[in-house]
Amino acid sequence: MPTLKEQFWDPVAGFGVTFRTMFKKVVTEQYPFDKKPTAPRFHGRHQLNRWPDGLEKCIGCELCAWACPADAIYVEGASNTEDERYSPGERYGRVYQINYLRCILCGLCIEACPTRALTMTNEYELADNNRADLIYEKQDLLAPLLPGMEQPPHPMLLGDDDGDYYRGNLRPRTAETHESEEHR
Ligand code: SF4
Ligand code: SF4
Repeated sequence: MPTLKEQFWDPVAGFGVTFRTMFKKVVTEQYPFDKKPTAPRFHGRHQLNRWPDGLEKCIGCELCAWACPADAIYVEGASNTEDERYSPGERYGRVYQINYLRCILCGLCIEACPTRALTMTNEYELADNNRADLIYEKQDLLAPLLPGMEQPPHPMLLGDDDGDYYRGNLRPRTAETHESEEHR
């Protein structure tokens, strides 16, 4: 036989929790209708960066791929030529893929990159409904062309050699620079 407390007080006490909670601040986030900004250093989707003239920073060295604990990166480097230049210096990343089915967004790859070609954005919406679309290709990862940038391939527009780029000694090339090169 239930006691008086069990019959009358316990149900009221249960509703007491409900009423108290009704007046507390709601912590539920209404994602995806209301998207909250991430912390500034949040590790999201990767980005392959460009120099201010549009050339690619990636030199196809594969250090990011070797550093990755999840084997999520695949890189194939190739040589720039006089007629077809994608990055300052000798080599560029011809094929660049990140498999987001494997990536754990740890950031070790960006620590390994010697040219700061690879960084991470705050973009976190990486879900998809098929496996193939979660393997991002180079064109999916490359930074957009900003004003003043040209789509590679094109010659180095901001320095005499790759050393100028790496040292940050960037300046627009003048007609004189081109002329002196022609007479070398
Ligand atoms: S963030 Fe980590 S797991 Fe993802 S590609 Fe880079 S090293 Fe690999
Ligand atoms: S992203 Fe950086 S580490 Fe990876 S291949 Fe390009 S230059 Fe090398």
